[in-house]
Amino acid sequence: MLTDYHLHLRPDDLAARAQEHFTEDNVARYRAVARERGIAELGVSEHVHRFEQSLAVWQHPFWQANAVDDLDAYCGFVRERTDLRLGIEADFVPGGEDRMANLLDERDFDYVLGSVHFLRDRAIDMDDHSVWDRGRSPEEIWRHYFQTLAEAARSGLFDILAHPDLVKVWGSERPRPEGDLRRYYEPAVEAIAEADVAVEVSTAGLRKPVRELYPAEAFLEMCFDAGAPVALSSDAHRPEDVGADYPQALELLERVGVSELCVFERRSRRLEPIGTVVG
Ligand SMILES: [Zn+2]
Ligand SMILES: [Zn+2]
Repeated sequence: MLTDYHLHLRPDDLAARAQEHFTEDNVARYRAVARERGIAELGVSEHVHRFEQSLAVWQHPFWQANAVDDLDAYCGFVRERTDLRLGIEADFVPGGEDRMANLLDERDFDYVLGSVHFLRDRAIDMDDHSVWDRGRSPEEIWRHYFQTLAEAARSGLFDILAHPDLVKVWGSERPRPEGDLRRYYEPAVEAIAEADVAVEVSTAGLRKPVRELYPAEAFLEMCFDAGAPVALSSDAHRPEDVGADYPQALELLERVGVSELCVFERRSRRLEPIGTVVG
């Protein structure tokens, strides 16, 4: 069985309103592409920062600009009018763990994706508030990123760590450290194993400047050797990207030896064999 657990029903731009995208017709478009690509299990995971309740957790200017929708209306729509698993993509906000835990525990999510998009208040994958324009070296940024990912794993807030090596998103546009990158991965993989959190294999990186799957093969190998389970996702923000480039992701999983994928229900996890894949 194939899954796509990292779906957004709307693009990231501020003009994309909930009422136009959280509709049964839009979900049917996502389902139709999933069916063509042989993906049975879908879950939606909107960004926490699109919801006004997130401002109780963090007051970053980017969140303040984005937090306009009601989280409970989203949860109600997904539960009552769709057959999608109910997820959310929540940032790891150091110092805000208790507040994020409250926000998450008050709702009956099937799973929570944990993302590190920011190092303190500087963004990894956006030009605004960028961490890259402060004169910090790639080594320093990569070290800080994977330390933060380790903290995210250990926080216990998340079921899946999304796009685990997002720090590479810019590819050659931002230099990456020289040599074997496993020295950066190590603390994160150790924390992932201890915390028993799943790691996401995401095809989204193929649509970014880096043009690679998340995570790098060496990172996934280390996770696999440490016993971490895998969740498979596209991070689609529009119907045509559901299950995008899955053949490439499945080749990676096969090379590394991953034969099962995580399935979630009300925050409990089980593993299902990938099995024979259509298309
Ligand atoms: Zn993300
Ligand atoms: Zn996402």
